[in-house]
Amino acid sequence: MSPDELKYEVALGSRILEMIGLATGIRSSMGHVSLRDPLNPDRFVVKGRGYEIDVLRRMRPENMVICDLSGRLVDGPPGVVQCNEVMIHACVLKARSDVNSVVHVHPPFSVMLTVMGLPIVPMVLEGIGLVRKPLPVYPHTALVTSIEKGEDMTKSLGTANAVHLLGHGVTTVGKTMEDAVMNAWHLEHQAQFNYYAKSIAGPVHAQIPDVQVEEFLQWRPLAEPHFQEAVARVGKVNTGGSMWSDLRERAAKLLSEG
Ligand SMILES: [Zn+2]
Repeated sequence: MSPDELKYEVALGSRILEMIGLATGIRSSMGHVSLRDPLNPDRFVVKGRGYEIDVLRRMRPENMVICDLSGRLVDGPPGVVQCNEVMIHACVLKARSDVNSVVHVHPPFSVMLTVMGLPIVPMVLEGIGLVRKPLPVYPHTALVTSIEKGEDMTKSLGTANAVHLLGHGVTTVGKTMEDAVMNAWHLEHQAQFNYYAKSIAGPVHAQIPDVQVEEFLQWRPLAEPHFQEAVARVGKVNTGGSMWSDLRERAAKLLSEG
């Protein structure tokens, strides 16, 4: 992927964060997604700061900045610097070679439950694997603006796919931008249903038993004989990615319209 193609993808990813409700209302300008440059893995693309209208739903490829793994600006439009929390992306991408994309957003249900000291447990199917075990918490509310804070947050993240930032937000990671964004969306979805459950039943309530989580995670699409028979007849079937394709196409359409 060329730098221009990377900027295009990150612009779409930024818009998708707004489309799925993770950067709306008072959080319209908060949050960012980054993508590592596969041809130059020591660099990544992310939105900057300094735009006249700094909201994610307005991001365009030409608004993106290229940074290195020290969080330094490599390239960007005039008058634009790195986003405030560029160190979240720089430090995670430096420490985790398995990660190519990082999302940081301020989703309210995840933040609220973490402040209350209530771990998010499996309550609904979507994102069940992500919250199977309690996710780590980085115990600071201040923005991650220094390399020390970025490294501390990355230490809290460890090998997990998500980390809560106490009273602040979440950081999620993925091998692809789709993985990182879906992890953020799944986490907030689970947090929302945790909030409903706690509102009904208090802080200690029923959750999906781990044996059920395991059974779901063991499920393989199209493994059953009736599907195998059909696949043998119709050929290769796309069993995933359709939601992301839809989001990406909608974001691309909105971008083409202005
Ligand atoms: Zn933040």
